[in-house]
Amino acid sequence: MDIACVCGETDALSGESRNGSIELSCHSCGRVWIRDEAARCPRCAESDLQTVPLAIVEKGRGTQLSVVGVRVISLCSSCDEDRLREYHDNRPNPLMPSELPTVAPEDRLK
Ligand SMILES: [Zn+2]
Ligand SMILES: [Zn+2]
Repeated sequence: MDIACVCGETDALSGESRNGSIELSCHSCGRVWIRDEAARCPRCAESDLQTVPLAIVEKGRGTQLSVVGVRVISLCSSCDEDRLREYHDNRPNPLMPSELPTVAPEDRLK
């Protein structure tokens, strides 16, 4: 999470769900603020987002691809429906990036 308070605190923060948005409090300076825009899809403004692990893929020699890590991304249930289906079909494997180099689908998860 890339949340930071105006005082610079990034760790001593707590969030509480309230009326569909997140109320954050900073334990360092006592600031309380609402964070809801980040929890909405930038395309359709829906808040129906799912966080999924996305594989970090590096291309090795030839056509070999290797998963070197995973990061968490948010996908919209309507705009990213296809990507979400792809993820759920392949669970518990992380979602593969859409801009993979040319590799046959059946070779992706080796
Ligand atoms: Zn603070
Ligand atoms: Zn959307």
